[in-house]
Amino acid sequence: MYNPPAQHRLRSRFLCCLSLIVFSLLLSEPSPALERVSLQLDWKFQFEFAGFIMAKEKGYYEHAGLDVELLEYQAGIDTVEKILSRQNNYGIHNSSVVIHDGELQPVILLATYYQQSPLIFVTSKEIKTPKDMIGKTIMGTTDELKYSSLALMLDHFFITRSNTNFVEHSFNIDDFINKKVDVMSAFRTNQLFELDQLGIEYNIIDPADFGFFMSAVNLFTSQEEALQHPERTRKFIDASNKGWAYALENPRETIATIYNKYSQRKSVPALMHEVAITKKMMLLDFFKIGEINTDLSVRAIKQLHHSGLLPLNQKLGTFLFDDLLANNSQNVIFNEKQQLFLHHKKTIKMCTDPSWMPFESIQQGKHIGIAADLIRTLSSQLPIPITLVNTPSWQSSLEKVKNGHCDILSLASATPDRSAYLDFTKPYLSFPVVIATTYDKFFISEIEDVKNEKLGVVRGYAIAETLKRNIPDINLIEVESIDDGLKRVESGELYGYIDNIVTIAAAVQRDFSGMLKISARLDEDVKLSIATRKDEPELQEIFQKLITTLQPEDIQSAYNKWVSVKQEVSFDYALMWKVLAGLFIISFGFIYHNYQLRSLNQKLKTLSNTDKLTGLYNRVKIDEVLVRQKAEVDRYETEAAIILLDIDLFKHVNDTFGHVVGDMVLVEFANIIKSNVRATDYVGRWGGEEFIIICPNITQRAAQLLTNKLLEKVRHYSFHIVGSLTASAGVASFSASRSIKETLCDVDEALYQAKEAGRDKAVW
Ligand code: GH3
Ligand code: MG
Ligand code: MG
Repeated sequence: MYNPPAQHRLRSRFLCCLSLIVFSLLLSEPSPALERVSLQLDWKFQFEFAGFIMAKEKGYYEHAGLDVELLEYQAGIDTVEKILSRQNNYGIHNSSVVIHDGELQPVILLATYYQQSPLIFVTSKEIKTPKDMIGKTIMGTTDELKYSSLALMLDHFFITRSNTNFVEHSFNIDDFINKKVDVMSAFRTNQLFELDQLGIEYNIIDPADFGFFMSAVNLFTSQEEALQHPERTRKFIDASNKGWAYALENPRETIATIYNKYSQRKSVPALMHEVAITKKMMLLDFFKIGEINTDLSVRAIKQLHHSGLLPLNQKLGTFLFDDLLANNSQNVIFNEKQQLFLHHKKTIKMCTDPSWMPFESIQQGKHIGIAADLIRTLSSQLPIPITLVNTPSWQSSLEKVKNGHCDILSLASATPDRSAYLDFTKPYLSFPVVIATTYDKFFISEIEDVKNEKLGVVRGYAIAETLKRNIPDINLIEVESIDDGLKRVESGELYGYIDNIVTIAAAVQRDFSGMLKISARLDEDVKLSIATRKDEPELQEIFQKLITTLQPEDIQSAYNKWVSVKQEVSFDYALMWKVLAGLFIISFGFIYHNYQLRSLNQKLKTLSNTDKLTGLYNRVKIDEVLVRQKAEVDRYETEAAIILLDIDLFKHVNDTFGHVVGDMVLVEFANIIKSNVRATDYVGRWGGEEFIIICPNITQRAAQLLTNKLLEKVRHYSFHIVGSLTASAGVASFSASRSIKETLCDVDEALYQAKEAGRDKAVW
């Protein structure tokens, strides 16, 4: 055996060491330069910013490649302006909606740390309720008194500059102690501790007690920063969240760090008091650290609009980071944890319903249908593939995801049962539930009205469960499949069949065209999500993010591809006449019946006056109303008007989506009109897609305003499946000099002119 001489051994050890050093030097080559970014705080260093301080101190920012400068608030600076002008990258604001000089600022919300705002009024002893503040001196910052939850509460109790003295905040509690002011705005986390220490008596008036909630310590940035640096913004959020988790778990160390390194403005006991309040404000039982509560922002905006503190034309646009990226077709940015998860996961196994067209099915081993197209769109943003697991039935797909052979279900509605083993994204497809009947049935305005009739529903559908819960004595008949259900409706064995509009529209177009129609839209919607296995919560987060990138156009084009019948054969006049004849016979039958029985069968009367599809008055009834109205105008010299509305390019709706969806639009259109006119107005269906409104006791000007309002409502309404539509209108007033017929001609002519003038208009 070779035994090297000692000297040689020494040299080889030396070489070995040297190469190790060189190697490790190579490895630990200076880390790539950190990106410098700044965070502008909206107050002084204290526990309120503990998460950011600890993210820096514990190296979380550095680990994410960031060199973060934390900027303490300085008197007179404008934090929002600093972010919007890009002097600083990120900022903190005490509300999730940022308003400045009466204008909603285009900031992007990145995270919310205090789910409840600690902003309150501290009042002198004798002021116990908001009303007691009237006539007193209130100290607060300009913004607080204008746009915060405090402002909402003041407005609610009619406390204004005209009846109360508002003064700018001095941030000197002596002003309160020495009774220079009666009320001051304060943070629960700050001034109360000092007042308690000094033994000063006070009351608290908290806007949250009166329904005015806002959040605080909101992390935000400018759209430019978010769009130009999405990766670093994502990293900044993640590292900040980590910092918060650390600070909350290690409050003593955090307090020591703040006190020794950042600021001694607050004593250690004051900081400890702040920790306790902070934990309360973060509502950690309900919210994840940093979680954004969109509903709260929407609600705050509504309240601000309602109170007039924010003009109505100032709408909440895109204000969430993920939405902004999605709207700008930027790729989804997964956070570190999610990336790691995907890296280990390698592939995502997906189960589907193998026979649920047009939503989805498996044909020749391929996933097809609306959901399949949308999942394909989503998967283009995933760094790993989604692979289809073939199953013979929906039941078996559920089994497979339960025992971990599948990771996700492409399309499923959330039910309490399923929630035990599945997480759900927000719904990405949502469709109304409707009842299909034969053509001779009347419009059903309340499902209660037909609960004793036999209504079919497919065995095991979630809809059945909901309906039974809401209407225990509903007469539901289980059917095997949609075809089974619709056949039984056609044969008269069932009164109606309940399912979502998409499935029904597709089946009716395929096999029952001209025989069945939609007679009601129920309150329920079928809401479909991606379901993910519960033991891998990252999956839910990942798919939730992906879903925010889906655009309405994606859904529309998937729908068009799998459901619509392009260029339907021209309108079936023969059928129309048959239906009209049927209608006439039935109406006649009712009237005759009435006459014969000489009893006041109110229900039957209503039916004979009602349009079958929309539940509005039919032409017979409208003719009657016209005569009555005309007599009234002539006799009492009152004013009355007729409005004729016609849906624009409605033929296109039928051609693209089929008659069943067209019918549904007519029902929705009728509801828009109904819910926007006075109870004394008469609304009827004048013909196909033409609607008439007779307004008694209305000036011409008011009728014009009403018409414009209706067109506006239609314009902004999103019709199910079809999306947006417009309508045109003609308006005419009754006058003693013109007969009913002439007035109808006037209104018709006006409508014609509105169409000629390019539609979506009213002419009078
Ligand atoms: P314009 O803007 O000029 O009014 O165009 P339009 O396409 O709305 O008008 P047009 O008169 O050419 O077509 C009206 C269509 O309305 C034709 C017919 O297919 C449809 N329609 C009429 N009654 C019904 C109905 O009860 N259900 C459905 N689905 N469609 C109907
Ligand atoms: Mg028309
Ligand atoms: Mg039309």
